[in-house]
Amino acid sequence: MTQQDYINREDKFGAHNYHPLPVVLDRGEGVFVWDVEGKRYFDFLSAYSAVNQGHCHPKIVAALNEQAKKLTLTSRAFYSSVLGEFEEYITKYFGYDKVLPMNTGAEADETAIKLCRRWGYDVKGIAENQAKIVVCEGNFHGRTTTIISMSTDPDARGGFGPYTPGFVIVPYNDIPALEKALEDPNIAGFLVEPIQGEAGVYVPEDGYLKKASELCKAKNVLFIADEVQTGIARTGKMLACDHEGVRADILILGKAVSGGVFPVSCVLADDDVMLVIKPGEHGSTYGGNPLGCKVAIAALDVIKDEKLEENSEKMGQIFREEFKSIKSDMIELVRGKGLLNAVIIRPKGGKTAWDVCVAMKENGLIAKPTHGHIIRFAPPLTITEAQLHEAIEIIKKTFKQFE
Ligand code: PLP
Repeated sequence: MTQQDYINREDKFGAHNYHPLPVVLDRGEGVFVWDVEGKRYFDFLSAYSAVNQGHCHPKIVAALNEQAKKLTLTSRAFYSSVLGEFEEYITKYFGYDKVLPMNTGAEADETAIKLCRRWGYDVKGIAENQAKIVVCEGNFHGRTTTIISMSTDPDARGGFGPYTPGFVIVPYNDIPALEKALEDPNIAGFLVEPIQGEAGVYVPEDGYLKKASELCKAKNVLFIADEVQTGIARTGKMLACDHEGVRADILILGKAVSGGVFPVSCVLADDDVMLVIKPGEHGSTYGGNPLGCKVAIAALDVIKDEKLEENSEKMGQIFREEFKSIKSDMIELVRGKGLLNAVIIRPKGGKTAWDVCVAMKENGLIAKPTHGHIIRFAPPLTITEAQLHEAIEIIKKTFKQFE
C-alpha cells in the first residue's frame, strides 16, 4: 500500500473530524517517528504533548507489557492490587491528599467541573443549581457537550447546542475582568489553563496565575488548573503553575501522565474538596485500571529519572534563541515556555502555516498548524541538544524555501 492508499482508507471509513497532515506513521522511538515507507521524521507535536517521555519509552512499554499479562481491568466494583499503589504514588508526587483517576483529558475536566459544583453547594453554600464557574476566552478543555458549552471557538461549539449553563467567560490574562466576575457570590471556581495550548501557546503575563489564585482565595472560589497539556514537565517545570509558585485547589492532569502509552487522566485535590463526591456519584469503567496505573507510575518515574524538567527548560531556551536567528518575513512572533512553543506565521504569496508544515514534513520534521496561522513546536522532552540543532536546521532550511 502507498501512503495515499492508507489516507484514502481513513477517508472512506473514518469520520471526517480531523484534517491530518498527509503523512502515515508506522513506528516511533524517542523523538523520531517513521512513515510506512520508512522515512524518518522529528516529531515536533508529541501527540499534543502526550508523548513527553518520547515514543515507546522502553520502561513505560515494559510496565505495560508486564501488567498486561497479569490483570488489565477490574472496574471499580472491586479493589485492585495496583490502584492504591498508583494513588499513593501520584498524590505524594504532586502533594495532594487524594486523586480521582479517569482516562482522557476531557473526562478529567468534567470531573473537576462536577467536583467544583458540588463543593459550591455542600461547602460554600451556593443555592441549588446556581453554581457558576469562571472560564477564559480562547480556552480549550476538550470536546464533550458541557466543555464546548464554555468554549469561545466557533468550530468547537457551533451547531452543537443547546449548551450547558453555569459558565462565565472572561478574557484570558485579564485580572480586572476576573476580579469583577468573582464579585458574584455564586461563583464556585475559576478554571484556567496556565498557558493556553490549543489557542496557540498563549502565555499570560508573569504574575497572572499568582494574582488569579490570590483573588480566588479571597473570594472563597476554587482555583482549578487544567494542566492536561502544560503539565508533566512540558513547560520546563513539573507543572506550569510551578513557575509562579501557585498550588491549584483542583489540579487536572492527562496526556503525558502516561507518556502516550495508555490513556490516563486524573484530578488531584485535598480532602475538603475531593470528599464531597460520594460513592455512586462519579466514575468510569476504565478509570484507575491496573494497566493505566502501572503505565502512569512508570511514565512519571521517567520524568524524574531522566530530569526532563531541566532538559525541557534548557532545550526550550535554545530553541527560542535559535529561532530568533531565522531570517524570514513569514515569522511574526515566537513564544512559549520550556518545550511548549509556537510561531505565529505571516502568510506570504498565498503560502500559509499549513504550507510551511507540509514543507517541513518533506524535510523530515512534523508539526501541526493551529488556528490557521500558528505552528506549535513541542518535541518530546527527551530531545538532546544535538538533535535539537539538527531539527532547527530543518526548520531553517524550510523557511529559506519560502524566501
Ligand atoms: N485540556 C487541555 C488543556 C487540553 O489541551 C486538552 C487536549 O488538547 C484537553 C483538556 C482534552 O484532552 P483529551 O483530548 O485527552 O480529552
